[in-house]
Amino acid sequence: MIAKQILHALKSLADLLAPRECVVCGHILAPEEKHLCLYCLNDIPYTRFEGRTHNPMADKFNSKIEEGRSSANRESSAREPYAYATALFFYSHNAGFRHIPYQIKYHGNLRIGRFFGKALGERIASSPHFQDIDAIIPVPLHWARRLKRGYNQAEILAVEIAQATGKPLRTDILMRKRRTVTQTKLSVEAKTRNVAGAFSVRPGIKTTDLSHILLVDDVFTTGSTLMACFTALRTVFPPDVRISVATLGFVGEG
Ligand SMILES: [Zn+2]
Repeated sequence: MIAKQILHALKSLADLLAPRECVVCGHILAPEEKHLCLYCLNDIPYTRFEGRTHNPMADKFNSKIEEGRSSANRESSAREPYAYATALFFYSHNAGFRHIPYQIKYHGNLRIGRFFGKALGERIASSPHFQDIDAIIPVPLHWARRLKRGYNQAEILAVEIAQATGKPLRTDILMRKRRTVTQTKLSVEAKTRNVAGAFSVRPGIKTTDLSHILLVDDVFTTGSTLMACFTALRTVFPPDVRISVATLGFVGEG
């Protein structure tokens, strides 16, 4: 009890010396608050997509798969299983919650990444649709960018998802073979062109022991990046291997 009081006093003192701010609204945090103020924590716009096989994100991703299939003239009889998709929260370019992925990606705030990655992982672990995943693959960064940034934000999340679900993290399967320009300001078409063909599967990967792959990224806006990863994986994994996607944020329109 006394130790707890001392800890609280130390936290209060630390907050007095270097006040911490809520990542969403910027208000000063109370000692017992972590990353987000209580108000924002209660206000997280959860998607709850993990409970539904058909949801706006899955529909968007699957229609992209369908488009890719028809443009590549692939047999529609080679029916691929419906890709599952989930995100932790709705994300909009003008709402405070956009600061979360931004803090992870550009400000090296890995503690927030782990905190929200864990929250996403726990939801995935409790979902009936993701019980059979046998590989968790973060969208890779190009090695030069990873070297410069020091970490891959998608991998920070994937590590937490692997921990929460007890499923293997696989960073050995997919690679980014060329650098792409930052997507933020590009149109949908330009984004698709920008990332198409940017990824490939490392040679020598055994493809027979997987049945459900989960691709992980920080945000789903147009879905172009995840689609480019999907396309690369599909070149080696047969159509009956389900390839699903999970992100922290989902942008309804983008
Ligand atoms: Zn707040």
